[in-house]
Amino acid sequence: MSERDLIKHAVCVFCGARPGDDPRYIEVATAAGEAIARRGLTLVYGGGSVGLMGAVANGALAVGGEVVGIMPRKLMERELGHTGLTRLEVVPDMAVRKTRMIELSDSFLSLPGGMGTLDEIFEVLTLRQVGYHSKPSGLLDQMGYYQPLMKMLHGLAKEGFVSSADVDRIIIQPEIETLLDQLTAPANPS
Ligand code: AMP
Repeated sequence: MSERDLIKHAVCVFCGARPGDDPRYIEVATAAGEAIARRGLTLVYGGGSVGLMGAVANGALAVGGEVVGIMPRKLMERELGHTGLTRLEVVPDMAVRKTRMIELSDSFLSLPGGMGTLDEIFEVLTLRQVGYHSKPSGLLDQMGYYQPLMKMLHGLAKEGFVSSADVDRIIIQPEIETLLDQLTAPANPS
């Protein structure tokens, strides 16, 4: 397979392998998957069938979307690899998984999640910070989930450990359609 064989704009979604305690999180993830698919965008994600990961994939598949999952061998059982995807790639480890999700995707959208989601968000942001790519990242801030993280990042910038430009480049939106508009807009010079 070539490094990049997806034709349509591919949005990579990072999100929890758990459902969260509030049932609205599953609704948010399902709606995000539907919105991505309805725009004819390809969904790239971690390949799991549980938690918000399963919900976003099922949302997209339910409306006929193309969904590509990237699963490390070791997690195939724990996160229950989704069997109904357009394509499920099994990769050797977590590092290769992140690299593959990044190379396949044109933009990154994060829903609520835990430490794995934060790791993925920061992998993409730090690679951009040092110039490995220039793809946009967005956080879906429904229910204010990412406000504490943004507050921390602005604090780090204020202390001189992060450039404000790198923080300001993160797209943060409470509404999925507005976020997708921004993630798929022709690149702004920044
Ligand atoms: P979580 O947000 O912790 O529920 O995890 C979301 C996704 O991130 C899952 O697919 C996890 O497999 C993945 N993940 C968890 N820990 C890591 C890690 N250290 N590096 C990369 N991905 C991870």
